[in-house]
Amino acid sequence: MPHKKENPRMSTTSVQRPPKPPMFVELERELVAIVGRDDVLTSEAELRAYDCDAYAPEKHYPDAVVLPKTTEQVSQIVKLCNRLQVPFIPRGAGTGLSGGATAVVGGLIIATTRMNRILEVDIPNRRLTSQAGTVNVYLTKAVKADGLHYAPDPSSQGACTVGGNVAENSGGPHTLKYGVTTNHITGVTLVLPEGDIVHLGGKVEDPTGFDLVGLIVGAEGTMGIVTEVITRLTPLPQSVRTLLGVFETVDQATQTVSDIIAAGILPAALEMVDTFIIKAVEEAFHLGFPLDAEAVLIIEVDGLEVGLDEEAERATAIAMKNGAREVRSASTELERALLWKARKQAFGALGKLGMSMVTHDGVIPRTKLPEVLREVRAIATRYGLEVGNVFHAGDGNLHPNLMFDERDAEQVKRVIDAGHEILKLCVDVGGSITGEHGIGLEKMEAMGWQFTEADLALMEQIKHVFNKNELCNPGKIFPSAKRCWETEHAPRMVQAARGAAV
Ligand SMILES: Cc1cc2nc3c(=O)[nH]c(=O)nc-3n(C[C@H](O)[C@H](O)[C@H](O)COP(=O)(O)OP(=O)(O)OC[C@H]3O[C@@H](n4cnc5c(N)ncnc54)[C@H](O)[C@@H]3O)c2cc1C
Repeated sequence: MPHKKENPRMSTTSVQRPPKPPMFVELERELVAIVGRDDVLTSEAELRAYDCDAYAPEKHYPDAVVLPKTTEQVSQIVKLCNRLQVPFIPRGAGTGLSGGATAVVGGLIIATTRMNRILEVDIPNRRLTSQAGTVNVYLTKAVKADGLHYAPDPSSQGACTVGGNVAENSGGPHTLKYGVTTNHITGVTLVLPEGDIVHLGGKVEDPTGFDLVGLIVGAEGTMGIVTEVITRLTPLPQSVRTLLGVFETVDQATQTVSDIIAAGILPAALEMVDTFIIKAVEEAFHLGFPLDAEAVLIIEVDGLEVGLDEEAERATAIAMKNGAREVRSASTELERALLWKARKQAFGALGKLGMSMVTHDGVIPRTKLPEVLREVRAIATRYGLEVGNVFHAGDGNLHPNLMFDERDAEQVKRVIDAGHEILKLCVDVGGSITGEHGIGLEKMEAMGWQFTEADLALMEQIKHVFNKNELCNPGKIFPSAKRCWETEHAPRMVQAARGAAV
């Protein structure tokens, strides 16, 4: 067996928790006074669960985690952090895939998972107000009987929070037709980075003034903590047809994607799964997926019953013309649910392989899918890594999953380098470095490949208007944010932890 050089910083087993800084005692005492003992976590075992999100290559312990239940408590906690100069990191369910909720310089994680109440359902105005820690799928559950739903449906919707969705401007399989989170949020309550509470937007369609809600959606928790969200509710489609196209080659599947859109069909979803993932899903769930296929496409069309069969038939004909072996149609609601279960739990199925993975999120023009997917495989092969693709093909939003052993420093380096090559490739073909997972820690360096220095400076200035002291989610998004790791620029608590004079 080849010798593995263990990477201490990135290994779950050996990540070292830094010594507690002096102001920690005061921080803990005051947090307990604000929320009560049960909602403050400080033990080694508890903090281990918060040392990263779903981006595994980097792990860092927070100094503490607090679980507030109200906007007022969040405001008091943020004011306390400002007084003690403690960095704080907003966190929802920790399903983020770019390291956005990881405590890179330690500090306090403010997790919203106990802020999970639906506050108002307003059916006549098609609005729902909830606390930010409410899990995505519960929004739809609350209104389904009224013929409505909350349209953005990330594959993680059974776990991720609506606050996390706002921060990442999340998409999902149905983004192609229904849009991303920003198209469905009309208002937020925000605790600003110095602790003031503001209400942005509201229930009405066209609020006056600057679109500050639009600014907060996608800010990745660097401009304050969202505590309440007003979401737009969308009528459920009258009818749905869900198809599964089975292909001998990836090229046939990706050509079908381009041709369906070029034919003027706007499917609700157009999702591709390649052979690596098909095998993992089949092993985990035994759904009858064809193990010898190179790719399958889930094609969903929805809308008025009239004309829907015809649309499904057109999509089927395009798939067959491109060489599909067969196109199956889900004939019952159960069959449809199983197809979506396979798609949405594909990442979970990969988890059963017992390895870590990094899920990339580049976007490319749809027409480039065949050549880019070929190149993604070539990159993975060059770096000696296995890759599986399961992604929102209709949006050109790739998700190459690179598998690796996070305990092996050399593999971690290879997975990061290969990921960078994939993202560069996306930019080179006219795409972008993220469709929905955000920049977080993972893609800070890649920002410079897509944006000019002037673009970055403008965005940083806007962030600075909100986050003057850099205490709110430091060390994220911008290449320059890495400076906060250096002692000279670090918040006081971080310097103290490192033994510097404060
Ligand atoms: C299996 C799996 C499938 C996924 N599928 C999709 C998909 O289809 N589409 C998609 O877009 N994403 C997907 N994701 C990524 C992830 O689920 C989303 O980014 C999600 O929105 C993160 O929500 P969260 O509550 O887990 O946030 P976290 O991971 O806790 O945090 C994410 C970011 O949001 C910030 N944040 C969290 N809550 C708040 C708040 N209340 N106020 C301010 N900032 C906050 C954090 O600081 C961090 O920067 C998937 C992830 C997994 C693991």
